[in-house]
Amino acid sequence: MSEETIFRKIINKEIPADILYQDDFVTAFRDISPQAPVHILIIPNKLIATVNDIEVEDEVLVGKLYTVAKKLAQQEGIDASGYRLIMNCNKDGGQEVFHIHLHLLGGENLGKLICAEKTIGE
Ligand code: 5GP
Repeated sequence: MSEETIFRKIINKEIPADILYQDDFVTAFRDISPQAPVHILIIPNKLIATVNDIEVEDEVLVGKLYTVAKKLAQQEGIDASGYRLIMNCNKDGGQEVFHIHLHLLGGENLGKLICAEKTIGE
């Protein structure tokens, strides 16, 4: 059984967050520690802990994360300049909050990969 995380409290508006989008299925809000000029987290309202926990029945919901990301990129004015969408999974993927979330990053040239602290093989 998956545990609820801080993101449940954000969805329920029990703690403050800069929410940019919310409907019955998806919530999007600005990351508290932005790694780029635009850094938004897009999450399903339903708790899915990791990518490993996505089921076939979640395919439409997970797809919706991308359509919301696309709309937010337009809203933020970075759709033409470009952006990166990342979903981390578990320890080696750098996942810290176990409620899946799509990172929308942009507003500057992000380079080939976001990997500020590590080079391959270290
Ligand atoms: P992960 O490393 O799990 O892929 O990303 C988790 C993200 O959630 C991090 O970028 C972190 O800054 C963000 N985050 C963690 N706690 C909070 C919070 O309370 N509010 C907001 N807005 N972002 C958070």
